[in-house]
Amino acid sequence: MELVHLTLEQGHELAMRCLLVSGCDRENATAVAQRMIQAEGDKCHSHGLFRLPWYCHAVKSGRANGKARPRIEQLAPAVIRVDGDNGFAPLGQTLGHPALVACARQNGIASLALVNMFHIAAMWPEVEALAIDGLCAFAFTASYPYMAPAGGKTPLYGTNPMGFAWPRQDQPPLVFDQASSAMARGEIEICARDGRSVPETAGVGPDGKPTTEPNEVLAGAQLGFGGYKGASLALMIELLAGALIGDFLSFESLADDAGMAGPPKGGEFMIAIDPAKHGDPHGFLQRGERLFSAILAQQGTRLPSSRRFTNRVVTAQHGFHIPQRLYQQIMALQ
Ligand code: NDP
Repeated sequence: MELVHLTLEQGHELAMRCLLVSGCDRENATAVAQRMIQAEGDKCHSHGLFRLPWYCHAVKSGRANGKARPRIEQLAPAVIRVDGDNGFAPLGQTLGHPALVACARQNGIASLALVNMFHIAAMWPEVEALAIDGLCAFAFTASYPYMAPAGGKTPLYGTNPMGFAWPRQDQPPLVFDQASSAMARGEIEICARDGRSVPETAGVGPDGKPTTEPNEVLAGAQLGFGGYKGASLALMIELLAGALIGDFLSFESLADDAGMAGPPKGGEFMIAIDPAKHGDPHGFLQRGERLFSAILAQQGTRLPSSRRFTNRVVTAQHGFHIPQRLYQQIMALQ
């Protein structure tokens, strides 16, 4: 596959130009471009520039508000809500972060409901930022119905991801961020684009039979990781990031899209916990480190997020690559 090399700065500039031309104002474009390039920086390509054409079309078509002004509201002493004003998620997330940190520090625990926004992408940027501020964090979101419930063959749940982060002293936090499906949809789309097969556990075709052909899985239904266990986590996330906070369930989000094939509109539910206000304020960091050392003492292990942190260092120095075809698609957006 032919590739185009970009520095992070070039990638950011490219994203900014496309988003501005498509109808975003500078504040919204900056928040989206930063989040996309953050993903490229960690080599999480399925949330990087790959998404740019999708976002630009959503603004051009009038589906997403490129000039959104998210609003923040305190619903209870430890509950905050940010209404994204029908814009893309990153601006609302940026607004919600300091409020959630302050609220968790004050109460020991706090939640943030982000609603009325488009495409809550990867969970790690939000939870990692909270752990850098010394908090333990969870994040959940739903999307479009891509995944069958346990035993079923028809898409109902999103591939609903969950993120978790734990603060560490003098080093980046411990973070994991994973879909509740066997594979993230973006990864399957990338396999389809690049002509690669997917594992048989990824999903079933429209005939309900397991397949390794990515386009068949995209047309059929994805499956939960670990069978019914992943499906139950997806179910929980539908309830937390949809029913609980008053935003869409995955199938409601698809109905709202009404065939426009835009990014999913919906909500995100986050919980932040201040360890200083729990059982072991002076020892929790050391206890965490004891556990991490014990994990790493076993051959073949690594900590979740270590791949991203290594990538981040390399990419900052050497930049990243995108497929030539995507580059051409992006150039045509300007
Ligand atoms: P992966 O399976 O690639 O990784 C899941 C987590 O496991 C990561 O934190 C990863 O860390 C960690 N990990 C991977 N291998 C190991 C290992 N050998 N030992 C320890 N930890 C390991 O992620 P998914 O494919 O499930 O999801 C990819 C992204 O897509 C996520 O960011 C997710 O939020 C996003 N997504 C978004 C959706 C949406 O609707 N918005 C839907 C589904 C997914 P590391 O990063 O360091 O490899």
